[in-house]
Amino acid sequence: MSKRYYCDYCEKTMVSSPSIIKTHVKGVVHQKLVSAHYQHFKDPETILKEESCKKPCTRFPRGECNFGGICRFSHYTPEQINALRDYVASKYNNLNEASQPSFQDLYQRLQGEKSIKTDSDDQNTVIYDESGVTHVLPWTYNPVLDNYGELPLSIRRLKSEDFVNASLVEWG
Ligand SMILES: [Zn+2]
Ligand SMILES: [Zn+2]
Repeated sequence: MSKRYYCDYCEKTMVSSPSIIKTHVKGVVHQKLVSAHYQHFKDPETILKEESCKKPCTRFPRGECNFGGICRFSHYTPEQINALRDYVASKYNNLNEASQPSFQDLYQRLQGEKSIKTDSDDQNTVIYDESGVTHVLPWTYNPVLDNYGELPLSIRRLKSEDFVNASLVEWG
């Protein structure tokens, strides 16, 4: 009983003799199936690179190309290549997003900025003018003042309503 050789790609059993196997491996049917097999494992970038270099196969759309994956012309339509290009581009965009700082990083950076800001807020600019008045800048409205009824205009918080019935007097 002669040994049998089983080709995984072609799912075919043949006599296990070196010359028969050699002929089989060189055969178009076998190479087509091997190529089709590896096409599944190629990443889209590789397929895009290979296919966009090839001229379109004129026989394949008519169902007349017998070369399959080993055809030196592309069996991808321009639309398929465009779709592949879009896919690769979006894949790269996702990768770029993934390499951006994590939420944790951003949070810590924000906390850092906040503490720097608070520090500088505490350091008010103090100016002594010629008449000996002390000004602390930046001047902010003290909300406690709202608790006192009528305040002099100069320190009252002005609201938009204050301007509704304002009579503009011309200064002479
Ligand atoms: Zn085979
Ligand atoms: Zn072809």
